[in-house]
Amino acid sequence: MKDYYDKNLPSIKKDVNTPILIIGGGLAGLMCAYNFMKNNIDFILVDSKKLASGVSANTTAQITYAHTNLYDDIIKKHGKEKVNRYLESQIEGFNIMQNIIKEETIDCDYKEESTIIGAYLQKNIKILDNLQNTLNKYNLSKVTNANNIIFNKKDIEIENQFIINPIKYMMGIIDILIDNNCKLYENSKVTKINKNNNNYEVIINNKYKINTNKIIMTCHYPIINPDNLYFTKIFQSKSYAVAFKSKLKLDANYLSLDEPYYYFRTYDDNTLIIGGSDHYTGINNDINKCYDDLISKIYRIDKDAKIVSKWFTEDCMPIDSLPYVGVYSNNHKNIILVTGFQKWGFTNSHIAAKNVTNMLFNKIYDDLYKTHRYTLFRDLKSTFRMIAHSIDGLILSKLFIKKEDLNNIKIGSGKVIRSNNKNILVYRESKDKYVFLKNKCTHLGCSLIWNDVDKVWESKCHGSIFDKYGKVIYGPAINDLEELF
Ligand SMILES: Cc1cc2nc3c(=O)[nH]c(=O)nc-3n(C[C@H](O)[C@H](O)[C@H](O)COP(=O)(O)OP(=O)(O)OC[C@H]3O[C@@H](n4cnc5c(N)ncnc54)[C@H](O)[C@@H]3O)c2cc1C
Repeated sequence: MKDYYDKNLPSIKKDVNTPILIIGGGLAGLMCAYNFMKNNIDFILVDSKKLASGVSANTTAQITYAHTNLYDDIIKKHGKEKVNRYLESQIEGFNIMQNIIKEETIDCDYKEESTIIGAYLQKNIKILDNLQNTLNKYNLSKVTNANNIIFNKKDIEIENQFIINPIKYMMGIIDILIDNNCKLYENSKVTKINKNNNNYEVIINNKYKINTNKIIMTCHYPIINPDNLYFTKIFQSKSYAVAFKSKLKLDANYLSLDEPYYYFRTYDDNTLIIGGSDHYTGINNDINKCYDDLISKIYRIDKDAKIVSKWFTEDCMPIDSLPYVGVYSNNHKNIILVTGFQKWGFTNSHIAAKNVTNMLFNKIYDDLYKTHRYTLFRDLKSTFRMIAHSIDGLILSKLFIKKEDLNNIKIGSGKVIRSNNKNILVYRESKDKYVFLKNKCTHLGCSLIWNDVDKVWESKCHGSIFDKYGKVIYGPAINDLEELF
């Protein structure tokens, strides 16, 4: 967040009307706003926090259409025709973004570099082959003998990809929107959406109303449930990143297809970033190990490296491996959902914004990403894991019994404890000060676990994260946890 500068935008303070409301000012929402502005479409954009402060602020911002194992997944789940369409649209998203940076002269530390993707294990070399075959229909990759900092048996190089500073890019877009008098509001959380015939009354901060005909939902995880059963189709995956000072000079971004997935990217002359250790949210709570795995890889390539910062964030992963850009559900035809970028949000946000704009003008748009698609049997394993995971979270919140004494909680830590036949969340602030919260995620009622590295409560099901006092940090939950006493 080093390059974040506060725009001090207003929040919604009275009831208002707008033909179109964008919910969420991350990459997806901002790019929709930018396209609407360019097409003279009137809109309001609201964000529950500061603009550009969600997942998009924590991304590592490698802009490439070579989306690692996704090509293999899409071939398996949707066939070759769709994988080609996916690649074509990602190339288009890539080009749109490159043109915006150039035409709007956005100062975002743009740097062209190759992306080098490799694998060591035979099963992953097959995945790499599928990526290579798809890219090579358009002559986009070559096998390379990379200056291999990740030990692989096979590497392919995709030239002329690029990296940027994501905050600077989004700040550039926000400046353009402000200069063009777009209506942008921060600290304006959507707390309820009421449908009146074909219109919507959207409640902001439990108080003000925005009346609108159309909603563009770019708030990352869908916030109306159980419509279209998104909670069984999208999971959240957590990913970690560590920045370190190093004398090592990299000439490309390196991605490994071997598990656990990881990548190295350049940042500035002395700093590199390693990312990876991805896992489903709520499952693996050994956060230290996730960071340690990455750090051990750093020391393998440079024993004198100095760690400068580490962070995590999470992204929405559709189980059938295609993002969602389209009509929310049969009940909500005037809501367009944009989500499910699977850690490839840049090309996807740009192509999504173009498709959403075309939808508004009733023009042809790419229905590859339509929301009404049959996902259940595309990946049975993931579907059952998703449902089992949700049920597990729901059941645990009611049955799990664990006797813990308040005194056993370390100061500055949290624990789930049994009180009055219920599990409750307790955070110990100081020797005698505790915060007691209901062990029920405000999204769908799943139980929570304590993450002692980041000092947050995490939902076991759909990725919501709350701070130690129960305030929402990441959705899909909209409301804070209930304080008990
Ligand atoms: C570790 C990591 C590394 C990544 N690296 C790359 C990369 O190298 N290249 C790449 O292309 N992609 C990458 N991605 C993916 C990319 O960062 C994401 O796909 C993208 O940022 C998602 O953008 P978004 O706008 O959907 O979400 P967000 O940026 O989270 O924006 C959603 C916004 O909605 C707001 N909001 C939520 N609920 C409400 C509400 N109720 N009312 C009002 N506002 C609300 C939030 O405050 C937030 O600002 C990475 C992701 C991760 C996790």
